[in-house]
Parts: sequence; structure tokens; C-alpha cells
Amino acid sequence: MIDPAVVRADTPGASAKVFLDSAGSSLPPRPVLDEVVGHLRREAEIGGYVAARERADDLEAGYGVFASLMGAHPDEVAFTDSATRSWLAAFDAVPLGPGDRVLVTEVEYGGNAIPILHRAREVGFEVVTVPSDAVGQVDVEALRELLDERVKLVSLVHAPTNGGLVNPAREVASAAHEVGALVLLDACQSLGQLPVRADELGVDIISATGRKWLRGPRGTGVLVVRRSAADRLRPRLVDLHSGEWVGPDEVELREDARVYELWETSVADRLGLIAAARYALDLGIDAIAAEVRSRAERLRAGLREVPGVEVRDIGARLSGIVTFTVEGRDPVAVRDELARHDVVATTSHLTSTRIDMTRRGVEGVVRMSPHYFVSPEQVDRAVEVVAALG
Ligand SMILES: *Cc1c(COP(=O)(O)O)cnc(C)c1O
Repeated sequence: MIDPAVVRADTPGASAKVFLDSAGSSLPPRPVLDEVVGHLRREAEIGGYVAARERADDLEAGYGVFASLMGAHPDEVAFTDSATRSWLAAFDAVPLGPGDRVLVTEVEYGGNAIPILHRAREVGFEVVTVPSDAVGQVDVEALRELLDERVKLVSLVHAPTNGGLVNPAREVASAAHEVGALVLLDACQSLGQLPVRADELGVDIISATGRKWLRGPRGTGVLVVRRSAADRLRPRLVDLHSGEWVGPDEVELREDARVYELWETSVADRLGLIAAARYALDLGIDAIAAEVRSRAERLRAGLREVPGVEVRDIGARLSGIVTFTVEGRDPVAVRDELARHDVVATTSHLTSTRIDMTRRGVEGVVRMSPHYFVSPEQVDRAVEVVAALG
């Protein structure tokens, strides 16, 4: 059980506003804030290199912390400066040529679709969208029919940015592996609110961010590359951290996942990210998932009672992301009106998830993403404010 008094006391921003944007950029808990600010101060006292050396053991331990959180081995973990950087580093390393196929789902994220389509145009591989089933998640049967030896990669968004859906990652991975395709899981919206474990899901690669449900600092990301997939990848964006200049014309690359890291990094943010993962592990991911689910269900139930509001979440299994539209109102105007009443929500638009939004005929939605530090009373307050919009 999560003690609401403790987590709210740890979250300076939890009371001032009804904060419903953990899918955008959450409120870090005090241990994260202390770690980041403390390290910046230390850098100002003794310089960044010495300050980093003082924390070398903690930085090294961070790989183990994320290995525990994400069901991987410490040498399968890499740290980056965003989920997109993680995703791009892995995607760029997947060998793809003319005639190959990359499968995406209908909820593919814009930030992934753009590099996929851009590279497809240059290289000549084909991008095929796997349809969704009647409930809205990826249709695993349709996926099976599309899978053959041409398919080198399945790009799967675990929980999309624009709705409450959770895709069946394990089923996708086991189907894809039958034809030897790699599965790259975008866990940006699931890590920190749901269990995301490489060992349980069976996926090959996982990318995720620090600032969303994990409550880490901005400018942080993580990448898991399973050993079983590492041999089939060709890392290209390498530097003097990922490799070594061993002879005038010779380089040797690292063999662990840190080959996807670059030398320079914000050490303060890295320490903050590690603190965020420790905080989540201490609370327990299952306990977090249960709290988030109960807030999201309460919010959806309340919103469904409001005339003119349509809850837009689809799927068999739902995440903590709650999306809706208000009849006759622009989502951005709704967000701004909510902000005037101290309710922090955001919006999601067609360009972030073009295939899904086009198929459903939705231009934009209001998005609310309550974390465990939001009280049930605050959830009710948000519903009241929406109801009062008229
Ligand atoms: C936010 C988001 C990303 C990108 O994360 P960054 O940390 O901004 O790079 C990727 N995928 C999904 C589904 C997202 O919601």
C-alpha cells in the first residue's frame, strides 16, 4: 500500500494544483530534486569532473537499479538524454535494406514514425501498419498474417500518448520472434506506471523517458537492449565512450548496451533519474499501478457523467492516461480553462498519432494523467471543473 500522506509530502507541487500531467512531465519527488540540485551545487564547488568521480559508485549502481526495474541485466541498460534519443540509437542500429519490412501499429508515435518513414525513403524498405482489433489494441492475428522473413523490425508503442490503451507486448514479441523479427518497445508512457520488464514481455529493445510516469528530471532517457538482440544490431552513433581508438585506423566498440551512450551527460540529471527509479521500486510497481488505475477509473467514471463529454480511451486493458473531448469546444481552450481553475491537463493532437487519430476521426483530445500522488478528491475536483465549463 502507498501511504498518500507520505507521497504527497514528498511532492511539493501535489497540493497547490490538481496535477494531471504525468504523461507529459510529472512532478519529481523530493529525493529526485535533492539529488539533482545537490549535485549541481557540488559541481559549482569542485568542478564537474571531480563531482562525478565522487559519485562514481552511485552512477555505476544505477545500471543495476534500472536492471531491477526493467527486468534486464545491468549490462543491457544504457542511459541517454531522452526516450527519443534511446529509440533513435536503437532504431539506427537495426540493419535495414531494400525489400525489408518494418511493421508499426496504428498508435505509432509521431517521433518514431518520422525517422522510420524518413529512413524508409532513403533506404527503400517498406513500412506496413498492423491494424487494430475491435477493442482498439494491436490485432495480433493480423500481425501474424503480416509476419514473414521480410519483417526485420516490429515497432510497438506499449501505451500510446493519446489514450488509455495498453498494447499486448508479450503476444506481439512471441509472434514476431517466430520469424526472427526484432521488437522495439516504446515504453515511454508505461515505465513508472505499469510493470515494464524485458524478461516478462520478451521484447528485444525498450526505450523510455525519465520525466513522465517515472517522475525523473527532464532530459533523461533509458534504453534496454537484450543480449540476445545485441549481435544483430550495428551501432553507428558512437564516440569515445562507446568505443576505443585502439590503433591509428582501428576502433573497438563496447560490447554492452553502453555502446549506445555518449560520453557527455548531465550527471545531476542521471543521479536524479536513478533516484526516481529507486523511489518507484521502493513504493512497488504493482502498488503504483493499482493506485494509478483507481485514479484513472474514477476520473473516467466522473467524466462520463458530464453532459457533452466523450471519453475517448479504447482498448481491453487501460493505462492511467484519460482522454476526452467536450462537445463544441477546442481541446486547447478546455485545457486553458482548466488551468485557470488550477487543474493541470494537456492536449494531444493528430500529428502525434496520425494513423490512430485519422482512423477514429479525432483531431485532438484533452489528456489527464493522474499519478498516485493525486488524491481522489482532486480527481473529483477536476471532474467538477470540466462539468462547470457548460
Ligand atoms: C513522450 C513520448 C515519447 C518521446 O519521449 P521523449 O522523452 O520526449 O523523447 C515517445 N513515445 C511516446 C509514446 C511518448 O508518449
